[in-house]
Amino acid sequence: MTSPMDAFEAASLIVAHDSEHAFEAVVPPIVQTSLFTFATYAEMVATYRGEKQRPVYSRGLNPTVRVFEEMLARLEGAEDALALASGMAAISSTVLTFVEPGDRIVAVRHVYPDAFRLFGTHLKKMRVEVTYVDGRDEAAVAAALPGAKLLYLESPTSWVMETHDVAALARLARAAGALSVIDNSWASPLFQRPLSLGVDLVLHSASKYLGGHSDVVAGVVAGPKALVDRIRSEALPYLGGKLSPFEAWLLVRGLRTLPVRMKAHEASGLEVARRLQAHPAVAQVNHPGLANALPPGLTGTSGLFSFTFREGVDVAAFCDRLTLFKLGVSWGGHESLVVPGEVVLQQKAQPNSAQAFGIDPRSVRLHVGLEGTEALWRDLEEAIAAAQS
Ligand SMILES: *Cc1c(COP(=O)(O)O)cnc(C)c1O
Repeated sequence: MTSPMDAFEAASLIVAHDSEHAFEAVVPPIVQTSLFTFATYAEMVATYRGEKQRPVYSRGLNPTVRVFEEMLARLEGAEDALALASGMAAISSTVLTFVEPGDRIVAVRHVYPDAFRLFGTHLKKMRVEVTYVDGRDEAAVAAALPGAKLLYLESPTSWVMETHDVAALARLARAAGALSVIDNSWASPLFQRPLSLGVDLVLHSASKYLGGHSDVVAGVVAGPKALVDRIRSEALPYLGGKLSPFEAWLLVRGLRTLPVRMKAHEASGLEVARRLQAHPAVAQVNHPGLANALPPGLTGTSGLFSFTFREGVDVAAFCDRLTLFKLGVSWGGHESLVVPGEVVLQQKAQPNSAQAFGIDPRSVRLHVGLEGTEALWRDLEEAIAAAQS
């Protein structure tokens, strides 16, 4: 059992752990190659027989990608991790490895919209049914679980930031014989370590806080070696969603500053959320740190949350008046971002469902970046004032 503070310790170990790499370089090299050659026939056949573990082809194993996987496994307190081309590749490869036609998944409501769309398109075609439940209602989760193959969690959920007792939900899944999987992108391993809470597999959009600089799209899944090996052997080679060495290298760099970045996002995000909550133009702020206590297992908060305006504020004018907060999707980088809910609800992608996402059309989602709390607050205050009729 590992405690959440161990993640900060694991992150400090990471800084010193590369002496084994080429030339004692403090930064691991980018092994930018598609294939690796064999010195002899005997070595090749031993590798093909599985008697020798070594890189063959970068769709399967690449040393730079492996460095990232080992670092992430350490941060999550996992036996192993598998890096993939995007967060969605991590979600689809994980889910597709463990479900078969006729299976059922229980998912918490308001999951990341493209996960919802994957469930409503490809999984539906495979005759895999998804039951959505309010993850705060443990009786409803328990009632939905019997017969389900998998419990799919996200806490806090996308946009509305509903939080769950992750350990309690993982226990319910285990009792029902269902595999539990959680999207931990929001909290990062520094503020939530789901494996220590009893969840079977933890996955991330590494495009967000793990990378941290808005220059990578990547994903990763971590957990017990036996489960990660199944995804590695069944989904990685055939679905082919591998991560590139250069992007893995950027992620290795990003992880080194994860602890300091997360502390800064937490402090600024919470302060901005508190001031918004006290602002007369704001009806509601959805930030887990504003509750009396964080849910069990969550030890800190990140910079992503949403809030809803009262009538009398022109949301479009507010967005256009902002200067530090840029209009843009994604989050987890150095920069502050704003996404208006009414725009998301107009997205043409199918399936689309305001109800499934829980998005209020008068809400906006903010990512509070690293520009500094006072400058960001001034930007928000001025934009709200200018947008009020
Ligand atoms: C962005 C995001 C994803 C998808 O990750 P990509 O790297 O964009 O494929 C999954 N879950 C959450 C919570 C996200 O915010």
